Amino acid sequence: MITVDIHVHLAEIPDQVPKWWAEELYRPFGLEFPPTNGKLAVELLDEAGIDVGCVMAADYRRTTHHPDHPHEHELLISNDYVAAEVRKHPGRLVGVASVDPLRDPQGAVIELERCVKELDMRALKLYPTYNHFYPADERLFPLYEKAIELDIPVHFHMGWTPLINAPMKFQDPVLLDDVGIAFRQLKVIVAHLGYPWVDQGICLVAKHPNFYCDMAYWGGFGPEFLYQALLKLKSINAIGRVLYGSENVCTTTFPEVYRQVNGAAERLGLPRITAEEMANIMGGTAAELYKIGKS
Ligand SMILES: [Zn+2]
Repeated sequence: MITVDIHVHLAEIPDQVPKWWAEELYRPFGLEFPPTNGKLAVELLDEAGIDVGCVMAADYRRTTHHPDHPHEHELLISNDYVAAEVRKHPGRLVGVASVDPLRDPQGAVIELERCVKELDMRALKLYPTYNHFYPADERLFPLYEKAIELDIPVHFHMGWTPLINAPMKFQDPVLLDDVGIAFRQLKVIVAHLGYPWVDQGICLVAKHPNFYCDMAYWGGFGPEFLYQALLKLKSINAIGRVLYGSENVCTTTFPEVYRQVNGAAERLGLPRITAEEMANIMGGTAAELYKIGKS
């Protein structure tokens, strides 16, 4: 069975990412932002034993204002850059487009179509808290309609980030409920399962059969925390819509955390995650969603 990590960022430091920004992003964890181009991403995936990584573009320009660092960088990991890195690693990397949708809502629709049809990108990543928008803002509806037409999933960063210029009012996964009500055909992936609003994220995903989730960045919380969320999803019939995704600092270590969840189940005397459920989480479901192995 194929294994897929759906949550890998590309970002080269300092050419694409200002150092202060990278430090602020990881400061609470005492970690450093790992620079990652296509080659380094494949090396991380090799170390993790994962077959394919979905690498994401990002437009972080709304977050790079800092009183001590004026005019330093415009932080944009462009779709063309990501597509070029993917082309160097066929079969190992899959490109994920991104747009800052309110910068130019109509242009975003055209750009998404170009990314899918010309650059062979397989999903759209949106970052409400970094791009300062509510996901149910009707100005984004044409973008969602285009994603349905192109049959690609939309992967939303939901949940916390330590970055000061990323407002928390845009982070609660419940903000996606109105998107699910309006678009029953839209394939939505809730990144980080909306941490720290995890129970809300679980109920959101369970409620909408077209919603999926990843637990990217949970590597540091250990297997029992991960297992408890998986068990809740399993208990309300949503375990089949969990996708493995790591986040760069956890790319090499997170597979081992997943391997330990049934140890946690045994210690707690609670049901195991079956081998079939785990195979789907680790890549089977993502291969379908991202059409991996299909051209
Ligand atoms: Zn991420």
